[in-house]
Amino acid sequence: MFVSVLARSVSAVKMRIEKCYFCSGPVYPGHGMMFVRNDCKSFRFCRSKCHKNFKKKRNPRKTRWTKAFRKASGKELTVDNALEFEKRRNMPVKYNRAIWDKTVEAMKRVEEIKRKRQARFIMNRLKKGIQLKKERTSSK
Ligand SMILES: [Zn+2]
Repeated sequence: MFVSVLARSVSAVKMRIEKCYFCSGPVYPGHGMMFVRNDCKSFRFCRSKCHKNFKKKRNPRKTRWTKAFRKASGKELTVDNALEFEKRRNMPVKYNRAIWDKTVEAMKRVEEIKRKRQARFIMNRLKKGIQLKKERTSSK
C-alpha cells in the first residue's frame, strides 16, 4: 500500500516537459509520441508533423521550420553566456525553502535576460537588411 502511494508520488514528480527531437518544441505530458529505436535511444515528437518528417528520414538541420535549422544557419542566438545559466548539474541538493525561493526568482531573471538578448540579436540581424534597402533606394 505504502509502496504504491510512494510510486505514484514519485511518478507525479517525474512529469516533465520534454523536448521534441525534430522541432525542439516542448512536448507536454500526454501529448505527442515517443519512438524507441532498437538501440534504446528514445525520440520524442510534439506532433504528427514532426513524427512524419522523422519517418521520412529528414534532417532537422536541413528542414527550414525547425529550431535546429535556425540555429545552424545563424538565425538565432547560439553562443551566449545567458544560455549557460540554466544547466543540469550532477549535484544532489537537499531541499531548503530559502534556496527554492531564490531559484524561482533566478529563473524569472534568467528568462528576462535571455529574452532581451535574443531580441537584440534579432534586431542586429535585421539591421543588415535595412541598410541594403537604404542603399538600393539611394542608388535609384
Ligand atoms: Zn516537434
